Amino acid sequence: MPEKKLVDASNSRILKSLEKIVGKNFVTDRIEERYYYSSDPSAEESCTPKFVVMPGTVEEIQEILRLANREKIPVTPRAGGLTLSGLAIPYGGGILLDLKRMDKIIEVNEDSMYAVVECGVTTGQLKTFLEDNYPNLWFCQPHAPQSVGVISNAIIYGAGQISLGQGVSSDMVNGLEVVLPTGEVIRTGSCALGKSWFTKYCLPDFMGLFLGWFGATGIITKASIQLWPKPSIRDAMFYKIDRVEDTVEILLKLTKSEACEDIYINSWTGTSTKRFYTPEKPEGMPEITMDVILSGKSQEELDLKKRKVGEIIEKALEEGVKVEEFEAPLLLKIGMLMVPQPLAFMDLMLGGGAEYLGCYIPTEAMGTAYKKGVEIAKRYGFQYLHVARPFRTGHVTGIMYAFPFDKKNPEMVEKLLNVLKEICDMAINLGGVPWKPSPTVQKVVLEHADPEFVNLMKKIKTLLDPNGIMAPGQWGL
Ligand SMILES: Cc1cc2nc3c(=O)[nH]c(=O)nc-3n(C[C@H](O)[C@H](O)[C@H](O)COP(=O)(O)OP(=O)(O)OC[C@H]3O[C@@H](n4cnc5c(N)ncnc54)[C@H](O)[C@@H]3O)c2cc1C
Repeated sequence: MPEKKLVDASNSRILKSLEKIVGKNFVTDRIEERYYYSSDPSAEESCTPKFVVMPGTVEEIQEILRLANREKIPVTPRAGGLTLSGLAIPYGGGILLDLKRMDKIIEVNEDSMYAVVECGVTTGQLKTFLEDNYPNLWFCQPHAPQSVGVISNAIIYGAGQISLGQGVSSDMVNGLEVVLPTGEVIRTGSCALGKSWFTKYCLPDFMGLFLGWFGATGIITKASIQLWPKPSIRDAMFYKIDRVEDTVEILLKLTKSEACEDIYINSWTGTSTKRFYTPEKPEGMPEITMDVILSGKSQEELDLKKRKVGEIIEKALEEGVKVEEFEAPLLLKIGMLMVPQPLAFMDLMLGGGAEYLGCYIPTEAMGTAYKKGVEIAKRYGFQYLHVARPFRTGHVTGIMYAFPFDKKNPEMVEKLLNVLKEICDMAINLGGVPWKPSPTVQKVVLEHADPEFVNLMKKIKTLLDPNGIMAPGQWGL
């Protein structure tokens, strides 16, 4: 049954105002269009916006936010809406700002290696543009569907194929242009001086007012994203490992060797050869497979790196670590070397649900975080599916706990929310920080946080967003 069209006077007045700002074609209050934005595959509750608006310019965003402020209407920004943790669900209803129309790649500077992009530019779009025009450069690209936003990935500390060497995507932002909730436009980074977007050095850095806030402090309209030299040759090596402790030993050595482009630690449930949804580990299956990706500018460089990895593994074997190299099927190797990689584990259970909580933890804590994650998942009757990846030469390791689930089963949804809360609590107790936590998990994070840290968050929020219109529900603000 279609929902009755909104008829109350204020709604039609606001609809008219929004139409005046963006044009009739780019605003809707029709339920069939609003419904699409009301949820995502995560276990978070849905909420339908009253209006969906697709602005085309910075000025239109300014006008929309001024209107929202006058009328005290919540505003939630969204690019791809694919974080799988409810970060773009429009809690509080109000206006869902779909940013996809703002899709210009404004500048690519080949010498200083950056691209200035608008907030609707997708990872697929930037990838194709670079391949066509600057084939020697690439950027930190998540293995997410290519309809996700470049800027939204940077906002949430997302990770990509160069994160082991260069850090996560938020480390690679040179500057931002932001429409504040009250409608002013600010710039931070060298672009604040008006001439170039090449660096975030050396002014006071306001990037932190917008990264990690999930849209609660303003709408980022442009960003300068670092580009990096693209290697000409890449290859992958594959290992079976039975014990998590052995994996950590190897990981600590491999990361410091700086020989690898990327490293994946996959639980048997999500191994690189096959994805499993079965309660028992198949006979002969190792607990973990480790995929090591190597790259270089020449065959000689690649061979040198392969030798280095081989030596580390040899030494580990001598020290009693159990690890075995194996030849992966060609198709798997090709898949592993694709950017983004095809990931086929989120739809293993019917019912449309998929959520994964990442936790950034100290690399040495990875083994414990892995085992405790298994315990928690098993206790609630879920099959575990863990993937861990070290970032920034091993300064950090991200461990992702992935759960396909049946969204139509309320009991299962409730259980999953408990699993995610427990995993969050466990990871924080191991010194970790949850990555892209859902609103449910954010509450657990804030319970652990220093009260003065939380107070400062509240003060900043009130300063930037005095009427509390932006992304209600995120960080409980
Ligand atoms: C199969 C699969 C694989 C994945 N693999 C990876 C991976 O390898 N690495 C990785 O990092 N992630 C991965 N992800 C997670 C996720 O898809 C990505 O992190 C992606 O970058 C999210 O982008 P989005 O455009 O969907 O974000 P959205 O959900 O649209 O936005 C994210 C948050 O930012 C806010 N926001 C969006 N745009 C703006 C703006 N302009 N200004 C202010 N706030 C804004 C939103 O309100 C929301 O809170 C994966 C997801 C899937 C489904």
